[in-house]
Amino acid sequence: MRALVTGAAGFLGSHLCDRLLAQGYRVVGMDNYLTGNAANLAHLRSSPNFQFLLHDVTNFIEVQGPLDGVLHFASPASPVDYLEFPIQTLKVGSLGTHKALGLSKAKTARFLLASTSEVYGDPLVHPQPESYWGNVNPVGPRGVYDEAKRFAEAMTMAYHRYHKLDTRIVRIFNTYGPRMRPRDGRVVSNFIVQALKGEPLTVYGDGSQTRSFCYVDDLIEGIVQLFERGGPEPTNLGNPQEFTVRHLAEVVLRLTGSRSPIVERPLPTDDPKVRQPDIRRACETLGWEPRVSLEDGLRRTIEYFRGIVG
Ligand code: UDP
Repeated sequence: MRALVTGAAGFLGSHLCDRLLAQGYRVVGMDNYLTGNAANLAHLRSSPNFQFLLHDVTNFIEVQGPLDGVLHFASPASPVDYLEFPIQTLKVGSLGTHKALGLSKAKTARFLLASTSEVYGDPLVHPQPESYWGNVNPVGPRGVYDEAKRFAEAMTMAYHRYHKLDTRIVRIFNTYGPRMRPRDGRVVSNFIVQALKGEPLTVYGDGSQTRSFCYVDDLIEGIVQLFERGGPEPTNLGNPQEFTVRHLAEVVLRLTGSRSPIVERPLPTDDPKVRQPDIRRACETLGWEPRVSLEDGLRRTIEYFRGIVG
């Protein structure tokens, strides 16, 4: 089996490459390093089953030789990143998904789209099942990511229905773990880095908004299972244990032993107030559920950041 992973140098893309290689796949990793980091793939440089191609997937994608799978993970994914790169975010979700689908079709390869819980926007249904259509502001600052991913899902289903392409759509909820960038801007990496540096933990708003945090190994396990034996309908993957942002800050302080204070900062525009995946579909069709508790996952992530934050 030979698979292409776009966004291979990113947080999730690089873990996915590791996991596919461990399962005996030959892997082609592709990235343009817009938000990816070459260091995430440095350990694979000498692997005979791994090949890296520097390429922006919004342009025609050329890969020599056969492919059995295309897993499309390229995109800025942190709110801070997609505010900084709004047009690239729209392009990679639309043009990039089209190119990746075209490549899949040409190679008769199975396609998996990394979609997102952001397709549900600021949800009016809680928790969010796949049947919920969402509450997205198309013209708000987050619209560039949300609408790009919604378009990407529509495009994927069009290739599935019209070209009979074998496709998967995973809606990924908040995920954390080693290889998040220290300045990624997302809440888990921000809080851990702030705690380790003795800086104030920046809670946006009053911290009563909720998220459900999944450890990266659990998520990658679910993605590979979905890719190998799932169906074309969108499938939520995430950890349904839901916490407030303030609770997360308190747990990070306790686990790091930091004396940093917690400070409040303005809530970003259109910041979803709640988020929790309904994972019944993944449980029933794949027998998958997350296993790593928030504390265990945070301990492993803190260990990683201790190694890179001076
Ligand atoms: N957040 C926060 N402090 C930070 C970064 C984020 O309180 O330093 C909040 C943010 O407003 C949101 C939640 O944490 O309510 C999760 O934010 P993140 O950027 O990780 O991802 P999102 O779930 O919003 O896509």
